[in-house]
Amino acid sequence: MSIYSGPVFAMAAEQFRIIADHLEIPEQDRDRLLYPKRAVAVSIPVHRDDGREQVFQGYRVQHHLTLGPTKGGTRFAPDLEVGEVAALAIWMSWKCTLVGLPYGGAKGGVACDPRELSRRELEAVSRRYMQEMIPFVGPHTDIMAPDMGTNEQVMAWFMDTYSMHAGHAVNAIVTGKPVAVGGTVGRREATGRGVAYLIGRALEAVRLRAGEATACIQGFGNVGSHTALTLARRMGVRIVGLGDHTAAYYDPAGLPLEAIVKHAADKGVLAGWSNQAAIPGEALLEQRCDILVPAALERVITEHNAPRLNCRILAEGANGPTTPDADRVLDARREEIFVIPDILCNSGGVIVSYFEWVQDLQQLFWTEIEVNDRLERLLEMAYQQVMKRAAARNVSNRMAAQAIGVERVRAGKRLRGLFP
Ligand code: NAD
Repeated sequence: MSIYSGPVFAMAAEQFRIIADHLEIPEQDRDRLLYPKRAVAVSIPVHRDDGREQVFQGYRVQHHLTLGPTKGGTRFAPDLEVGEVAALAIWMSWKCTLVGLPYGGAKGGVACDPRELSRRELEAVSRRYMQEMIPFVGPHTDIMAPDMGTNEQVMAWFMDTYSMHAGHAVNAIVTGKPVAVGGTVGRREATGRGVAYLIGRALEAVRLRAGEATACIQGFGNVGSHTALTLARRMGVRIVGLGDHTAAYYDPAGLPLEAIVKHAADKGVLAGWSNQAAIPGEALLEQRCDILVPAALERVITEHNAPRLNCRILAEGANGPTTPDADRVLDARREEIFVIPDILCNSGGVIVSYFEWVQDLQQLFWTEIEVNDRLERLLEMAYQQVMKRAAARNVSNRMAAQAIGVERVRAGKRLRGLFP
């Protein structure tokens, strides 16, 4: 029995079982690797603008303490539950060790719809959430970051609330905060930039030229929009499909990205831009393109649509977009579709978060060129390790990436003993 349930946790557990079988990890060692070290659940009472009091549920899950503090994003979403948060914390662990960061994975969030909250209400939820988490987090214990539904402003409120408690500014408590309060240059764009960098490497692997390639991107938030912009502006990729929770567009001749970015900046959503190129949201993932980037929700590529994916490269910007059942289909299509698995593909975000934390601890700030150079170096190292292992063991890129992550956590646990 455990408190972790729901489809997303079941998916993380099933993925772990597959890797553990592959690595021949004895049954008795598995639970300690899979189950989170800690989970904190809090109630967050706030005054709504109409005078009502409302209580939201908040969570923070810290997966393991073996290699350093825990690190992970904060998700504000209406149907958030602790199993989903735990799954995201587990994936974060494999991701951090894959790219060589001295962290365990964490994740947190509040079950609320940030789109329904006024700015004042959002600030109240954010501050109260951090207030409740103060005993459990710290710059050397657990460092928060943004995820779906949160942004730089929320991180600034988190930092301020923690700092008021400490009596001095503690900017290393969160990453992904504005540069003006100790954030790093390059963090906002980092995840999308990393996705685009790895797409560049995958294009080389499948012998396609960026200037002749097309891309479809699901999700137009932080990850999706910066991936689209980097692909189009820096690499000359033609963006043919875009979608968010309100609309999806597809035009094989290419979408006018700059006009759509302007529309999204004005309206906050993609809906209302055009009727002509509109398609049903669920059809976007199956459109013909060279590069498909799911950059919104988990579990959108299933055994139902995986056989119909019509791309050459699947670059997983989102966390957990592909179910294990879909993965079996993709494994059979390995020659047709090159998968850049999530824990590698979107790791640019946590890599630059790590750089932000290091800069905050040292109070010594880097230039954007330094940030981007170091980002590319870590991505390249991880990419090569994954490619080498996948080829040497004849396994999928996902299996190779996850196996590296799990092995490193396991090695740390073996050296340290039972405690962490
Ligand atoms: P965000 O809140 O900035 O944007 C989310 C986007 O997804 C929005 O455009 C939203 O409209 C869209 N979306 C929501 N529901 C949808 C639906 N049903 N169909 C289509 N689109 C939908 O979030 P983000 O930070 O860009 O995160 C997106 C994904 O990337 C998440 O899985 C997150 O965990 C992962 N991720 C984010 C970062 C980061 O640095 N922000 C780093 C690594 C991984």
